[in-house]
This record gives sequence, structure tokens and C-alpha cells, in this order.
Amino acid sequence: MEHPLKVFNSLSRKKEDFIPINPPFAGMYVCGPTVYGDPHLGHARPAITFDIVFRYLQHLGYKVRYIRNITDVGHLENDADEGEDKIAKKALLEQLEPMEVAQYYTNRYHKYMDMLNVLNPSIEPHASGHIPEQIELVQTLLEKGMAYESEGSVYFDVEKYNKTNQYGILSGRNIEEMYSNTRELDGQSDKRNSFDFAIWKNATPSHIMRWKSPWGDGFPGWHLECSAMGAKYLGETFDIHGGGMDLLFPHHESEIAQSVAANGKPPVKYWLHNNMITINGQKMGKSLGNFITLEEFINGSHKLLEQAYSPMTIRFFILQAHYRGTVDFSNQALQASGKAYERLMKAFARLDAIVPAEVSDFNVADLEKDCYDAMNDDFNTPMVIARLFDAVKFINAVADKQTTMSESQKLGLQKIQKNFVQEILGVKPEVQIDSSDSSLGNDLMKLIIELRLKMRQEKNFAMSDFIRDELKKAGIELKDTKEGTDWSKTN
Ligand code: ZN
Repeated sequence: MEHPLKVFNSLSRKKEDFIPINPPFAGMYVCGPTVYGDPHLGHARPAITFDIVFRYLQHLGYKVRYIRNITDVGHLENDADEGEDKIAKKALLEQLEPMEVAQYYTNRYHKYMDMLNVLNPSIEPHASGHIPEQIELVQTLLEKGMAYESEGSVYFDVEKYNKTNQYGILSGRNIEEMYSNTRELDGQSDKRNSFDFAIWKNATPSHIMRWKSPWGDGFPGWHLECSAMGAKYLGETFDIHGGGMDLLFPHHESEIAQSVAANGKPPVKYWLHNNMITINGQKMGKSLGNFITLEEFINGSHKLLEQAYSPMTIRFFILQAHYRGTVDFSNQALQASGKAYERLMKAFARLDAIVPAEVSDFNVADLEKDCYDAMNDDFNTPMVIARLFDAVKFINAVADKQTTMSESQKLGLQKIQKNFVQEILGVKPEVQIDSSDSSLGNDLMKLIIELRLKMRQEKNFAMSDFIRDELKKAGIELKDTKEGTDWSKTN
């Protein structure tokens, strides 16, 4: 197999890196969500970015093992070693088990990823399900002298690691800068240096998520899970590691340090990072009032939104930008994307009905080649979309009888539709939302059932039966029980 695919590897900071992945197998690890809040735009972008990588590698014929983890323990509030565990904090607030919080938001995440047509990864490991693997990695790092124990916690010794390796290789930071930036913060800490990071944290008596370890009751440091689970499922060195740019430091930098210190070799060949999302030019943040969840986007309920936006509009909008560029969400931009998406879907829907005739001078083979070249050029989805719109113009011109299309041109365009629109970009016609899922549908059914009850109380059985029979024709069945009336869909 040839390897035409070039990527921007964050480690080498070059776009010219080829992907010499040994066919047929490609291993990919992407940092998944910390499941303590409702999925929002910040979740949609990395999920869609690496869905494209997953889809394209499979399209090229690779057997891809795609790991996307669920962080359900160890991610503290300040992304380092301080503050409460994000999930435990939410659990205390809501009086739930931490695993109830994690399960609830994992389910919500899956629901919205399905709506965005993001494929499921091959394995979705949970941090809390891999505590023995993480303890083993801590032990290895202690044995190698790259970590030290302090008051029940274990810290990675960044200074020592940096003597023989380069801490900062991915982010371009160096340890001298870190000294001058962080020294003054030191004080009560049990670390040797403020930039050392916890790989195992001692649990205070009130900390609810805790496991037994050789160092006492505690929990793993956030960076540790990805090193442990990546190596477990993909081996000590694997092909691609992805995530948002906000994870580059300290999360991914620390992953590299842990793995190199434990195994003596770099864990990843290619690091890919998607850029961030802004809303009306501002960083998204709870304090700025512009923190919009996917649910709010899809039902249009946030005050900044002029309308609801469909999941496919959101997906299409994200794909219209290159994954390494920033994306700014505004009503204007989303409305334009919604229209473009509809134009694309409508044109390809017209293609099937076209009756082939004379060949015209539109070059389908060139278009297909350009689409592959764009994908091979660091997954340039906006370029693919731009070329697809050349096809849209041609299809519409033929459908409007301004020109003609031959049988082979039609077959070529149908192949492009199948490969690029459906399979690689994962853009599909919008599906009708199931009425039993929508709150409007539920409210309407409640109202109808109440009206029918009133009629029965007034002994107007003819009318109450009429309602029941008409609903049945529409595919909705009513069941009268002692507790009241239930409804369900029959098809
Ligand atoms: Zn991670």
C-alpha cells in the first residue's frame, strides 16, 4: 500500500510528515471526555475531527483500533494536582454516587455523538476500570527512579527526567521557563518542584473516590490513565494520538514523559491536535455566559441563539474549517452552513433521477483526485467540501436541463457521493426527530389523554373511543390502567 497521507505532527511541527503506518493495522488513541457535565461544542470538535481520521483511515483500507477513553476519576479542578475531583464534586452537589454522575453524562455524551453521526470508537475504556494497570505503572516509575513518594502521594520527577530526556518536547516549553514561572507558587506543597505532577494522589478522609494502593488509599493522577490504557490496548508505541490543543500541555506532555520513563521509547508516532472553538469571537466559558451545550444548540434554547441548529448543520459547520484552524460560532455563520448543507444534500438527491445522455466537459476523475489529494493533505475537509460544490453546480445544471451528463459521469458522481459525502465526511440527510423523544410530543400526548379522560367522565364514550381509534391509525396505542392511561408507538 502507498502512503500518500501527510499530517501535521505536533511533535515535529511539520506538515510534510508522511504516515508510514504499517498496513493493515493503525492504532489511534484520542482523549475523551471527563464526564461531569453536559456535552457542549468543546466536545463536538475533537469528536468530529478524529471521527474523520478514523473514517478516512478505514476508507484507505486500514484496520483501525480506535481508543477513546472516558475520564471518570482523577481529573481535578485546576487540571493539575489541586482542587477537588470534578466528578466527586458534582456527585456531592447532586447527592449521587460518583459513578451515577459519570454514567449519566457518559450516556448524554453518547446520545449527542450519535446525533452528530460520530462513529463509536473500537474500545472506550474507563479510567476507574483500569486502576491495577495504573498502580503497576506507578510502581514501574518508582523502580526506575523517575518518581518519588511523599506523604502518601507519588509524584513524577520532572527535573530528573529532564536530565536524560526533554520535558517540553511536544509543547516547546523548557524547564528553565517553568522554574521561573512556578517557583513562587511553591510552599505548602509536598512536591520537590512545583512542576512535578501527581501520578498517585493520597485521598484525604473526605475524598470519596479512593482505592487501596501500596502508598495508602488514593486515586490516580489524571495524566496516568492515558499512558496506562494506551499501552494496554495499542502497545508501547502506537501510530496516532489525538486531542484538543488545550491538552497539549500539561496532559500530553506528561503522557510522553511517563511512557518514555517507563518503557524507554516514545509512545506515539504522530500527535494530532484540533484547534479551539470560540463563540462570537470569545473563548467559551461558563463565566462569560456563552457556554452552549449541544442540547441547547439543537433545540435553540440558549439566549445567544436566534434559532435551533440541527446536528448535521453543526457537523457540516465544523468540517467547513480545517481542524487546525479556529472555528467561530455565530448565528450568521451557522445559518450560512445550514443553507450550504441543504444545497449539497438536495443536489445529490437530484442525481439519482438524472437520465444519462451526451457526455459534457465536466471532469469527474479530476474532482475525485482533488478530493483524495485534499484528504491526504492533513485531512483538508474544507477543500473537499469546496470541490463537492463544483459537483453540486454541475448536477443542478444537468437537472435544470442546461447541460447533460453521461452514464459514466453519473456513476462517477454517485461514487463520490458514497465515498466522500457519506463515508468520509459522514454527512447524511437530516432525520426526523422521533416524537416520543421530544418534550413537545410528550406534552401534546399528555393533553390528548387528559381531554379523553374528561370525555369519559362526562360519559361521552363515542368521542373518547374516536380519539383512541384515530391515534391507533396514526401508530399510537393507548392503554388504560388503574394508574391512568399510558401511550406507546406501535411501529
Ligand atoms: Zn488523555
